[in-house]
Amino acid sequence: MSALTDEALLASVPTGLFIAGSWVEAAGGRTFDVVDPARGSVLLKVADASAEDGMAALAAAHDAQESWGRTGARVRAEILRRAFTLVTERAEDFARLITWEMGKPLAESRAEVAYGAEFLRWFSEEAPRISGRYMTAPDGVNRLLVRKRPVGPCLLITPWNFPIAMATRKIAPALAAGCTMVLKPAELTPLTSLLLTQVLVEAGVPAGVLNVVTTTSAAEVSGPVIADPRLRKLSFTGSTQVGRRLISQAADQVLRVSMELGGNAPFIVCDDADVDAAVDGAIVAKMRNGGEACVAANRILVHRSVAEKFTATFAERMAGFVVGPGSEPGTTLGPLIDERSRQKVATLVDEAVAAGGTLVVGGAVPVGEGYFYPATVVTGVTADMAIVQDEIFGPVAPIMVFDDDAEAVRLANSTQYGLVAFVYTRDLDRALRLTERLEAGMLGINTGVVSNPAAPFGGVKASGMGREGGAEGIEEYLETVYIGIRDP
Ligand code: NAD
Repeated sequence: MSALTDEALLASVPTGLFIAGSWVEAAGGRTFDVVDPARGSVLLKVADASAEDGMAALAAAHDAQESWGRTGARVRAEILRRAFTLVTERAEDFARLITWEMGKPLAESRAEVAYGAEFLRWFSEEAPRISGRYMTAPDGVNRLLVRKRPVGPCLLITPWNFPIAMATRKIAPALAAGCTMVLKPAELTPLTSLLLTQVLVEAGVPAGVLNVVTTTSAAEVSGPVIADPRLRKLSFTGSTQVGRRLISQAADQVLRVSMELGGNAPFIVCDDADVDAAVDGAIVAKMRNGGEACVAANRILVHRSVAEKFTATFAERMAGFVVGPGSEPGTTLGPLIDERSRQKVATLVDEAVAAGGTLVVGGAVPVGEGYFYPATVVTGVTADMAIVQDEIFGPVAPIMVFDDDAEAVRLANSTQYGLVAFVYTRDLDRALRLTERLEAGMLGINTGVVSNPAAPFGGVKASGMGREGGAEGIEEYLETVYIGIRDP
């Protein structure tokens, strides 16, 4: 339990930019409001950075790079480990803040804090494992030396949906690898990143290594930073639309990029699946984070022979979700992040129903304050509908029926995305056969959750490139350098 009252916790969150080890106001003196999506009220005002601030942050990261890159891996590891301990000790404060600014139920925020903190611990353990090799060349004469070094200053841009985990999934491997960075958190949920920065400083991150710029002018701030040759890496998590734009900007400097973009996960229930387990999995895959997750099941594909049973049980469970502010006990579904998101979700449902889909549960925008939308199930949808092709990013489950595995694979692969796919079957051979044909960077077999700090998270196709977490995660922040040595 946290000792802080709500007011004291909010008052303890820094609201400035963090540049070169100091909290400062935006150069233009501007601020913007951070809003509680459950009530529409202003939580705090934070600094609104301009391009000038972004460049000051990059300069600080550049100046700190040499010394941080030479800091012993054990020292970097111990800072990360201390950060893990501090975040864990303050888990309740982080969870409350996440619920206030992002909206999810407190229990889910607590789970996110545990998941997010784990990246700090995981990468504290990876830092000392960075290694190279010395070998004799195949000619038997020459010698090859291969070593790793930090890629250099990074720009990290994060989305609003997992305010702590999306930040630690980038910050932790960057710190472990010896990179300095500029973090640009989402303008809708910057508070968690600001508190996290305070905790990382307390853990010992030196001045200039981590710089944070909050802004409502993301493109204006990031553009000049990306165009500057001092920047060596861009790691972005967000929409495919913005990711595409950033990849083309990064091309000018041939900047290394990692892109964690949108998803449109198929959730396949085979005729031999344990239907009750599949319903449990689908509820988690669909409703975790209120459906506002890149790994959310976007399309539920069910074999005709089990479709009726699955749909009835699943719809009953969906109807049981309790909509309300995430901080209220009993709430199992918080608000969407803003009115724009709610309108998008409502339109996808309305259009699907107008085009012949059947509303089984939910589908009506509630009246009153906050950006709420109920758990919704739509059947009879077809592959050409926007509700199937687009990322829904809300608590809406479209259900489609298939007749054989080939059709399931064809439907599953029929969007531009390829982040994750879920398969429920009792036949392991079949599961493996299916997963080999599904176009996705991650596959879940008889589970609705794949995210794990020890595993490589990332997608294929328009879901992006690069991996976060696992042994792969630190590689994104390392260069491989080869030194040829004449025969001794
Ligand atoms: P978004 O693309 O609108 O914004 C993401 C971040 O980019 C924010 O910090 C935003 O301020 C910034 N941004 C927006 N326009 C920019 C521009 N022109 N130049 C530079 N920065 C810009 O996405 P969002 O709405 O915050 O997040 C939801 C999206 O993120 C969904 O598509 C979701 O699938 C995706 N996402 C992906 C993963 C993953 O790991 N693959 C994880 C979480 C979210």
